[in-house]
Amino acid sequence: MNRRIAVIGAGVAGSVAARGLAQAGLRVTVFDKGRSIGGRLAQRRREGAVFDHGAQFIRPRDPVLIRLLEAGVRAGVVARWPAAEVDERPVYIGKPAMATPLKMLLAEVPVETNCRITRLARDAEGWWLEDAGDIRHGPFDGALIAIPPVQARELLGTLGDAAPAALVAATEAARLAPCWALLLAFDPPLELMHHDARSLDTGPIAWIARNTSKTGRAGRDAWTVHASPAWSSAHLEETPDVIAAELLAAFRAATGIGAVTPCHIEAHRWRYSLVTEPVGTPALFDAETGLGLCGDWCLGGKIEAAFLSGRALVKLVLN
Ligand SMILES: Cc1cc2nc3c(=O)[nH]c(=O)nc-3n(C[C@H](O)[C@H](O)[C@H](O)COP(=O)(O)OP(=O)(O)OC[C@H]3O[C@@H](n4cnc5c(N)ncnc54)[C@H](O)[C@@H]3O)c2cc1C
Repeated sequence: MNRRIAVIGAGVAGSVAARGLAQAGLRVTVFDKGRSIGGRLAQRRREGAVFDHGAQFIRPRDPVLIRLLEAGVRAGVVARWPAAEVDERPVYIGKPAMATPLKMLLAEVPVETNCRITRLARDAEGWWLEDAGDIRHGPFDGALIAIPPVQARELLGTLGDAAPAALVAATEAARLAPCWALLLAFDPPLELMHHDARSLDTGPIAWIARNTSKTGRAGRDAWTVHASPAWSSAHLEETPDVIAAELLAAFRAATGIGAVTPCHIEAHRWRYSLVTEPVGTPALFDAETGLGLCGDWCLGGKIEAAFLSGRALVKLVLN
């Protein structure tokens, strides 16, 4: 009988792992706590504006990933974003949302959303996953954890001494920085040149993007502003209202828009955003128990790292 595999987390890493294993004939089920899949490739609609408030774009190096993205362009679920191209390397975005290509990857895989896994257990039948509503899912022959390291550590902790030591050590080694995101919409649109995709290296703001400059994001003039890791860390526990006011002031100063008032303003806190200390191993798999780990934090942050990690875990499981 084909092995039954549970994948916890439907971000890039979990989706790539799930798809690879399903293609190899394993019976895969994916669980995600979110209302939708994608994880940090998040998009939000507010008052007629569309915001990519997590990851902004992919600038890939891996030839397989580039080929997949180009296939996505042909299929209409990926587009180039010329505003963010600073050298000869192409920059890609999901279309109409960053997570749209992942939905294609998981089209044939059963996915349970709104399902936060809170406990792992293993008995003679295999792995059991318990969710926040006390529902048990299983049994599975393998359980693959594709969530950020702090949360993965918590989940492994529910196994007590039975948690494989190498997996626990990996989750403890990785570090991610937080990021405060500011979402702004303007009506009428801002008359600003050269700000569609702009990196800043001083002050609270690290990144400004006009979301409406990305293909497929129709609607009111929408802007995503990301604070720097240092500023976000220093202000992590502030309230969203305080953050919104401070980052709006910084946005005004950086763009010179003066006192123009946004028709929508909202701050979103990402507790785990960009990897600052990766594990340095593409993925981890304990063949004896069938427990595995993947995620951007294994390799170094960014979408490409998550892709490579998910792919590496597929190889480990199939071997
Ligand atoms: C603000 C911001 C800006 C970024 N900008 C870029 C960029 O421009 N380019 C780039 O390449 N990268 C960028 N990144 C990083 C990029 O988003 C990540 O590297 C990548 O998306 C990580 O994918 P992942 O699958 O490893 O993890 P995640 O996307 O975090 O996926 C984990 C999934 O697990 C789910 N989950 C967590 N716990 C549980 C649980 N207990 N039970 C069930 N499900 C659970 C979550 O809901 C989530 O869907 C950015 C990230 C942020 C936050």
